[in-house]
Amino acid sequence: MKTLGLLGGMSWESTVTYYQLLNRMTRERLGGLHSARLLLWSFDFAEIEAHQASGDWAAATAMMVDAAKRLEDGGAEGLVICTNTMHKMADDVQAALSIPLIHIAEATGAALSEAGCKRPLLLATRYTMEQAFYRGRLETHFDLQPMVPDQAGRDLVHTIIYEELCRGIVSDASRQAYLGVVAEAEQQGADSVIFGCTEVGLLLSQHHLNLRAFDTTVLHAQAALDFALS
Ligand code: GLU
Repeated sequence: MKTLGLLGGMSWESTVTYYQLLNRMTRERLGGLHSARLLLWSFDFAEIEAHQASGDWAAATAMMVDAAKRLEDGGAEGLVICTNTMHKMADDVQAALSIPLIHIAEATGAALSEAGCKRPLLLATRYTMEQAFYRGRLETHFDLQPMVPDQAGRDLVHTIIYEELCRGIVSDASRQAYLGVVAEAEQQGADSVIFGCTEVGLLLSQHHLNLRAFDTTVLHAQAALDFALS
């Protein structure tokens, strides 16, 4: 089994999910007392969020590259960035390493393609919904046509991520608000939903939805474990 290096803490609420999933899936696949070989770097998310909000992506990239190198130096054989948004600098991080980065959008795009879905609604942070680094990859690598909510919907989805989910607050009112955004997209032709922020799975599950759901946290953890056990 290879050792995975996790860049987590973005937020730690979803890093917990990665940790549980990787260990549970390792036990399912290998049996007995087997668990995942992991190194975790967990950021103080307040520092990351401050750089995101001020648009200082260069500073955020420097922090990510520094932490990723520490994980590689510590023995990690593959890198897992435990957030969609911070894949914005995935190429810069990969360029600084000699170990492979397991990309969350690649894992997600592959699952959508395999399921025959073409027009997924992307529920994510404003950065992931509005910038090219994530949607572009789904479009060019997998020939998907991701949809995003309108401005008001994007504001709502983004605010609930930062004000609630990343702070451990999960409310029924916010779940209903997200379901309203999904219902609108369904009327406009969405054929599936991407939980494109690693905390969205704390609020929504497949059983809340008519459309097929793709939870990036689960898909990413599966892809990382496939790599670790290959
Ligand atoms: N975990 C979230 C994501 O998957 C948002 C927090 C962050 O900005 O990293 O995008």
